[in-house]
Amino acid sequence: QAKENGRGTFRFANLEKNQVAQDRLVLGSALRDSLAKGMLNLHYQPQVRTHTLELSGVEALSRWHHPTLGNIYPSRFIAVAEETGQIEAIGRWSLLEACRQIVKWDRDGIHVPTVAVNLSAVHFRNRALSEHIAALLKDHDLKPARLTVEITESVMMDNSRDTEEVLQSIRNLGCGLSMDDFGTGYSSLSRLTRLPLTEIKIDRSFINEFEHDTNAQAVTMAVIGIGSRLGMTVVTEGVETEQQWRLLEELNCDVMQGYLFAKPLAPDDLEKWVRQHKTIREIMPTTPSAKN
Ligand code: C2E
Ligand code: MG
Ligand code: MG
Ligand code: MG
Repeated sequence: QAKENGRGTFRFANLEKNQVAQDRLVLGSALRDSLAKGMLNLHYQPQVRTHTLELSGVEALSRWHHPTLGNIYPSRFIAVAEETGQIEAIGRWSLLEACRQIVKWDRDGIHVPTVAVNLSAVHFRNRALSEHIAALLKDHDLKPARLTVEITESVMMDNSRDTEEVLQSIRNLGCGLSMDDFGTGYSSLSRLTRLPLTEIKIDRSFINEFEHDTNAQAVTMAVIGIGSRLGMTVVTEGVETEQQWRLLEELNCDVMQGYLFAKPLAPDDLEKWVRQHKTIREIMPTTPSAKN
């Protein structure tokens, strides 16, 4: 019996492996096709200053709707893109798309101070990345600060010289450089001080249980302290409740992002949100303890 179970498990594991491989094959070619046809979109999630609720920027998040496969979320297709060698194409596409969108918003009188684009670790092994970004900014006549690059701790783990130099040259251009999902990986604090970061984003998992979990609060407080001392902007992602916002305000977190304010929005909806948000802020005092 046990033996059969064992064998069954073995077969099952193999089957699962096959499915994953097949998933990659099917999604990989569908993705290539969609990319070529321009069927990926960027949605934008507002980031607001904790004390004033002013819009400080937006994060660009990829969205893929496939005619037969439906909506496929980045948690699934970004991994496929990385495994099938398409992640650099996605990065180039999202940088270009973000620049075009900033130009369009500027023209429409919608002021979005900065757009943050997510890039994977592979991008930073390519020395041409910063030149590519510089050229994009020049072509669109944009100040470098309008663009922020979000990196993950896997980039920090990448100890290669190239990666550090690429990060430094992006920073030298004047773009923002943000450490995403901070606290979930294996990065060390010494590395945090060595990289030319302008911002850290505390991972959503710390905020999830925030109201009830004093440990999560302690860690958040410490990270906010370290980030501020290092002269970085500290962002908290995944803010869903007003109580979380109040706590973050007490802890002097600079910027918040989360469903409490808005989900990632299509460009037109973001535009509406900004217009409405502006008037809401004008008539509503933000919080009892509002500072500026
Ligand atoms: P991320 O960069 O940490 O982005 C934040 C994720 O949290 C987004 O998921 C966003 O929709 C979600 N989120 C925001 N606020 C809340 C909230 O209040 N509650 C909850 N439960 N979730 C919230 P999304 O869009 O599914 O993206 C997942 C991840 O995929 C991103 O995590 C990012 O790592 C990656 N990703 C997305 N677009 C791209 C891209 O164009 N390139 C690369 N390399 N990665 C991308
Ligand atoms: Mg991000
Ligand atoms: Mg994040
Ligand atoms: Mg995250």
